[in-house]
Amino acid sequence: MRTILAIDQGTTSSRAIVYDERCRALASSQREFPQYFPRPAWVEHDAGEIWRSVEDTARAAIASSGAGKVSAIGITNQRETIAVWDRRTGAPAAPAIVWQDRRVSPLMDQLRAAGREPFIQQKTGLLLDPYFSAGKLSWLLDNIPDGRARAAAGELAAGTMDSWLIYKLTGGRVHLTDVSNASRTMLMNIHTGGWDDELLSLFNIPRAILPGIAPSSGFFGETDPALFGAAIPITGAAGDQQAALFGQLCSRPGLIKCTYGTGCFMLLFTGPEPVASTNRLLTTVAWQLGGGPLQYALEGSVFMGGAAIQWLRDGLKIIRSAPEVNQLAAQVADTGGVYLVPAFTGLGAPHWDSTARAALLGMTRGTTGAHIARATLEGIAFQVTDLLRAMRKDSGRRIITLRADGGACASDLLMQLQADLAGVAVERPKNLETTAIGAAMLAGLGAGFWRNTGELASIRETERVFRPAAAADSKERLRLWRAAVKRAKSLEGA
Ligand code: ADP
Repeated sequence: MRTILAIDQGTTSSRAIVYDERCRALASSQREFPQYFPRPAWVEHDAGEIWRSVEDTARAAIASSGAGKVSAIGITNQRETIAVWDRRTGAPAAPAIVWQDRRVSPLMDQLRAAGREPFIQQKTGLLLDPYFSAGKLSWLLDNIPDGRARAAAGELAAGTMDSWLIYKLTGGRVHLTDVSNASRTMLMNIHTGGWDDELLSLFNIPRAILPGIAPSSGFFGETDPALFGAAIPITGAAGDQQAALFGQLCSRPGLIKCTYGTGCFMLLFTGPEPVASTNRLLTTVAWQLGGGPLQYALEGSVFMGGAAIQWLRDGLKIIRSAPEVNQLAAQVADTGGVYLVPAFTGLGAPHWDSTARAALLGMTRGTTGAHIARATLEGIAFQVTDLLRAMRKDSGRRIITLRADGGACASDLLMQLQADLAGVAVERPKNLETTAIGAAMLAGLGAGFWRNTGELASIRETERVFRPAAAADSKERLRLWRAAVKRAKSLEGA
């Protein structure tokens, strides 16, 4: 039996899953690793700890799968997080800076004030934000002793987590990244698929520190035989959201998925043409299969998705566990005019307003926890509806189906509210592990298990479709929601 090891290197934990050729999980292992918050708005990881979590979970999953030798490895990972290490010893040269870290906000403000955003958006498809890797890497090189000189001399290596893991897995022999991860660094030109000299000089990054850019599916290198008892080819890698898009088989232009996790991430596959956004979405590389063309997606994310439910549990304490939100919200037929704008950490796409704060509006003496619970689920669905509207405008496509995944899509009520408010059918797959499956599919294609994406079609099965009910009042509710968003936005400046 041929098997694939999928490594899912997330923000708070690393997971390893062994799949068979039908992408059925044979075994899995998961481990959390420490998060470091040395200052307000700083978030760091120890790349060494991440590597050990991956090594251990991979070994454990392989051992308990009973499959013996794994045939191929696929990697998916938290995106944008950037590490710098000593190329010779493989030792991290500084803590890795995590995507959530805001320390380079001043640099981004400076570049915006200098009018550089259109230039950056044109080349990278991204908006100026500390989220992306370039500013973080520049900061690291400023703060590692002799950082720039050592980088230019080839003594240091840098990379996102895929690249770091490929380096460690191959015993330090291979320094590559996949094109979907590279597209999130703000250093790659998404039209050419190569590092861009103007961007490198803007951020003062020596080219020598960066990995080579490879297709998402294809041969990256072989693992050091000492690690898992044999040399295993690494044949797939992609950023987590792109891997989920692939795992949902959104490989025809117009197909779209939304992951309802801590935040919500929506990606619309647009095919070989990058679509420039005029609605503050991101244009990003979806993947590249072998020697095929670059494929693109539009992306939008909201910061608080399932996390808003966690606030009901941990902040308001009106539920004891996340799934309880559903029973509580089902006690009432509507929110009684209550709106929750979950801007607890600002608003993401399409608003990009970091000063917005959450607002709970429309309460009366009759308002109960049930109304607030329902308004929370609606608040998630409304935000996703706004993303979908921006996607429709940017792509000029009629979107009739949304493929859902992530922890919060376990909520039938949320899925139905989503269908009703956005006027789309919401499709939930049987297997919700779309990110890891996407990595396994990319690796399987790269290893020749399947010849093309068509052969993968039978692997993805739909569990349930939530069809939009003809809710006469959804337009009016959307209007009131947008009015509520305006109030959440204006608070700071008022
Ligand atoms: P992440 O990968 O971002 O850590 P997950 O995909 O694991 O997130 O999803 C976790 C989120 O899903 C949590 O924020 C939680 O509130 C929410 N969640 C989990 N189970 C349910 C449920 N049954 N109903 C509604 N929300 C849920």
